Formats: sequence, structure tokens, C-alpha cells
Amino acid sequence: MPHNYPGRQLAVSKYQYDLFVIGAGSAGVRASRMSAQYGARVAIAEDLYLGGTCVNVGCVPKKLLMYAAHFEELFRDAVGFGWSIGNPVFDWVELIKNKDKEISRLNTIYNKLLDQSGVQIFPARASLIDAHTLNVDGEIVTARNILIATGGWPWVPQFPGCEHVITSNELFHLKQLPKRAVIVGGGYIATEFACILNGMGSEVKLIYRGDLFLRGFDRELREQLVEEMMKKGIDIQFNTEVARIDRCEGGLLIELGDGKQIESDCILYATGRQPRVEGLGLAAAGVICDPFGYVEVNDYFQTSVPNIYAIGDVIGRVELTPMALAQGMAVAKTLFQDTPSQVDTALVPTAIFTQPSVATVGLSEEEARANYADIAVFTTKFTQLKHTLAGNTEKTFMKLVVDKTTDRVLGAHMLGPDAAEIIQGLAVAMRAGATKAHFDSTLGIHPSAAEEFVTMRTATR
Ligand code: FAD
Repeated sequence: MPHNYPGRQLAVSKYQYDLFVIGAGSAGVRASRMSAQYGARVAIAEDLYLGGTCVNVGCVPKKLLMYAAHFEELFRDAVGFGWSIGNPVFDWVELIKNKDKEISRLNTIYNKLLDQSGVQIFPARASLIDAHTLNVDGEIVTARNILIATGGWPWVPQFPGCEHVITSNELFHLKQLPKRAVIVGGGYIATEFACILNGMGSEVKLIYRGDLFLRGFDRELREQLVEEMMKKGIDIQFNTEVARIDRCEGGLLIELGDGKQIESDCILYATGRQPRVEGLGLAAAGVICDPFGYVEVNDYFQTSVPNIYAIGDVIGRVELTPMALAQGMAVAKTLFQDTPSQVDTALVPTAIFTQPSVATVGLSEEEARANYADIAVFTTKFTQLKHTLAGNTEKTFMKLVVDKTTDRVLGAHMLGPDAAEIIQGLAVAMRAGATKAHFDSTLGIHPSAAEEFVTMRTATR
């Protein structure tokens, strides 16, 4: 789809707004604030919660729960360092109450940020009537440009008993911590919640129909994570499918494809997400979606209708908050700064907040082998200093994938505490074109785990 650049759009207009944004999640909030700062008359509609998925039922509450879950291990480890802790008790209700308080604080901040930028907020559901007209909870509103930033929603397959399962949305509001939890899925949300509930004391089973979770990530990294999660007591069953779920006296009864049965108190399905486009009026306005329902856009996030743009999870590219933010900036610059802008998707760093955590940037070993003639792989696996006195058997794993022809580092991968914090810095180096020689000539910070990334001298293969 060629980009039909509409030019700077701040001339006197017959429309009420220069930009109307549907959805106040990461993508919509960033686009509307930036556009307003560039002088555009902007409105935004949000029908659930300001801040969208990330703030309310995604990154933020997930990470808060992950912190809570990690204390269990820290209390145990503390004994090796001379502390007597007694018998720590975890209170789910207190955690959820405090988490909700923090999220409502963030909702207020988002409201203020939009307000102070001059963006008009409609706490309402919006849909398209045509390319320039919207129905906002019954009110007719016109806009020169429209931005679809409606995000996604959990997807659960239809099967007998599927009404008994919950998704990540509901998990954040459970009334009590389940004693036994079954998690179905193989993506980052499934693995993260398995570790969260396990850390809090639930008996956790993770069921995935594939042969190894986290498809697309480096295979060796995924295998190391399986080992660590199992060591922490999570029962992981690959190549396993759920046939049906029924209520039973003790809770819920899952029948697996091979006829085996599992009883559980809570079944969390983390089997993927779908774009939130139902009832949006896309067809009425002429906006084309792909066969999975994602809104089709060109490199400038313009849909099949030139004045309608779409960004964030609803376009189904890289479904992460920093990507949604970058796309929001790009659309604001394209429309109101005379600067048609794309978003570079090379070397996107990403993390999985499991226990231990995973973070990665660049190519997996498998991707590098498929695309480069000659690569070298450097790996290291060790016990962190802080685990020694604690008697904690958790291992940290690191890997660098290098193009032997140019010496460029193609991929950096880590499993271990603070992986996200460490890989974020390496991502900067890699975007600047760092070679293995740059890594080798960088002095380490001692004693740290991160220094291993600059001391891997001998290739593993
Ligand atoms: P959303 O944030 O979903 O916002 C869309 C908004 O539009 C919603 O508020 C919705 O209510 C509103 N809306 C929809 N339709 C309408 C309508 N018709 N009218 C009015 N309003 C409407 N990403 C990371 O980078 N790191 C993480 O650690 C991470 N963890 C995650 C954990 C979980 C459990 C989940 C589910 C997601 C996680 N993500 C994470 C992904 C991240 O949350 C999304 O990529 C990001 O929120 C996408 O932003 P968005 O603006 O496109 O959509």
C-alpha cells in the first residue's frame, strides 16, 4: 500500500477535530498527547480504563504480582545470609488491594496528562459511521483524521467446558489465591503467570500442546527456562491438549486428550489474543482487515482509507508497549509535523518476567544459522554469587550469537535475575553496531553477573 501523505493538517477545518483517537491505551494516549502538543485539536474515546491493557491488566499489574511472587524465594535465601525470618505468610487480598490502589493512581495520572495536553476525553465507546464521522456513545462527532488504537483481548478456543476458564484479565481480580492452578498456553503470558502463582504458593501445572513453549525465542534459552521452572516446582506438560472441563466436587475437572484427568481450583487460558475490532464499524468506513481481524496498514500506519490510521496491538505486529508508543509518536509526526515517519523493527529487545527472568535482543541461534553463512555461538551457565550462601540451585544462562564474517553481535540472550535490566543496555550497543571485539575490549563490572557478557572468550560452537 503506497503512503498517501496528507501533508501538514492544521489548516482551518470543517471537522470538529484534527484527530479522533479510539482507545486510550499505550498507543492511543501517546499519539493523542503528541498530536495535541504539535497543535492539533484532538479527542480520544475510551470505554474501559485509561492506560489500556498495559496499565490495567497487562505489564504493570503483572510485574507487581511478579515482585510479590519473588519474595518467597528471597525469604528462603535470606536464611543462608544469617537472617531468621520465621514463617512468612502471603496475603493475596492485601496484594490485590494495594495493586488496585496503584493502578487507580496511574489512571488519574493518565487523565491529567491528557487533560493538560489539551486532549478532550470521551469516557465512551466509539465506532465509525464513515471515513470522517464517528458515533461516540450516541453523539455524532467529525474528524479530519481518525486513529484506531483499540488494542486486543484474550482469545480462548471453544470446547466443552470453556466457560469455566479465566483469562489474564480475570486473574488480576481473583478473590483468593487458587490452591491449585492449571495454566494452558505456551506464550510469555502463560509462562509468567505459572511462575507468579508458583511463587505465591499455588500448586501449578502448565499445559501446552507444542513440544516447547515460547516459540520464536532461542531454543537453548527456552530449554534452560524449562529446567529452572521445573526445579522451582512447576509441573510442565508439553504435547498435551485439554479435551473438556467439568465442574466436580473439589473444583474443576480437566480431561486431557489422552484421557488423563486433573483436578484444579482455577484454569487460566493464555492461548493468545485477538484484535478488538468488533462493532467498530470498520467495514462501513471501508477499512480493510486481514483474515485474523487485524487492521491492515502500510509502513506509515495508514489503513486502506487514507485519513484513517491504526497502531498498537490492533495491527498485530510487535505487540509490546514500547512498540505501541513508538507507533503513536510516528503517526503524530506524520500527521502534524510534516515528517512521514515509520518505526524501525530491527533489534527490538524483549523480556519475559518468569522466575528466573528471560531477556533477549536480536537473532536466536536458529535464525542466525538460517540467515548467515558462518556464525559463532558463545554461551555460559553459572551459579550467581548471591545464590551460593543461600544454597539456591538456580542457574544463570547467557548467550551471544556472532556473525564470523563481520564480527557483529547478532543476538544476545539471557536467563537469570535482572535479565531485562542487563539486555536493555546490550540492545543499545547492538543498535550501534557492536562487534564481538567491542564486547571483549569492554571491562566488566566486578563482581556482577553482567560481566560474563564481556568475558566469554571461547566459542561454544
Ligand atoms: P491497549 O493497551 O489494549 O489499549 C486499547 C484501548 O482501547 C483499551 O483501553 C480499550 O478499552 C480501548 N477500546 C477498545 N475499543 C474501543 C472502542 N470502540 N471505543 C473506546 N475505547 C475502546 N507489553 C510489554 O511491552 N511488556 C510487558 O511486560 C507486557 N506484559 C503484558 C502482560 C499481559 C498479561 C498482557 C495482556 C499484555 C502485556 N503486554 C506487555 C502487551 C501490552 O500490554 C500491549 O502491547 C499494549 O498495551 C498495546 O497497547 P494498545 O494501545 O495497542 O492497546
